[in-house]
Amino acid sequence: MIRLKDVEMEYDNGTRAIQGISLTIEDGEFVFLVGPSGSGKSTIIKLLTSEVEPSAGRIMINGFSVSNISGRQIPLMRRTLGVIFQDFRLIEKKTVYENLEFVMRAVGASPKEIKKRIPYVLNLVGLEQKSKSHPTELSGGEQQRVAIARALVNNPNTIIADEPTGNLDPERSLELMSLLVKINQLGTTVVVVTHEKDLVDRFGKRVVTIEAGRVVNDSIGGYVGGRI
Ligand code: ADP
Ligand code: ADP
Repeated sequence: MIRLKDVEMEYDNGTRAIQGISLTIEDGEFVFLVGPSGSGKSTIIKLLTSEVEPSAGRIMINGFSVSNISGRQIPLMRRTLGVIFQDFRLIEKKTVYENLEFVMRAVGASPKEIKKRIPYVLNLVGLEQKSKSHPTELSGGEQQRVAIARALVNNPNTIIADEPTGNLDPERSLELMSLLVKINQLGTTVVVVTHEKDLVDRFGKRVVTIEAGRVVNDSIGGYVGGRI
């Protein structure tokens, strides 16, 4: 479970990016985080991953209290989160398989676990044929799916995606969102930051709208009788 209580966040230059947000995301939920550019969406992601600290308020993430977390606990907390970045952040010198192996080794997974888990997640994202490819040999959509596989490979409780469809055409964006929905249906909590309102409307999921650092709407979105 993720819980923000009266959270405020001010950058060093005085910008008040988050101006009092309270928000609970239960285990197993799928949540879209939407809002105009500069509204504070990325800052919320950075608060969740402990890249930045709140100036006020409390943040709980999967049993960890981020406000008074110790240095030793931060890696344990981060392990409960799989983060998908807009710019993928794949290691270009490594193959798809090696990119996944690298993050599994980083958390001390055994060779046996690695051998079992990587084919499973590559199959889940439809990339079992690309395990020996390097990221530069893949299309944008495929690279994004590698990024999803990497976020999933250590079996996190929660997946957080920051504008995952940023560089994709509408058809690929829809495929990618559908993949995140499938991952959610397998039991992982999913939080997706996006500005693609049309796409969001098609899924009928919970939509939290941020404006000027505040939640201005929190409801189940989507057309009645929508296409998905
Ligand atoms: P969004 O992701 O919704 O576009 P951000 O969270 O990136 O919004 O930004 C929220 C506000 O904080 C904006 O006014 C932005 O200019 C400001 N901001 C973002 N990052 C920084 C930073 N590192 N230093 C100062 N201000 C920042
Ligand atoms: P998408 O429509 O998913 O973006 P593309 O049309 O870009 O896909 O790519 C189609 C196929 O060509 C993919 O299977 C991809 O792996 C392969 N491909 C794309 N770019 C390269 C490249 N630079 N080198 C080798 N293969 C590539």
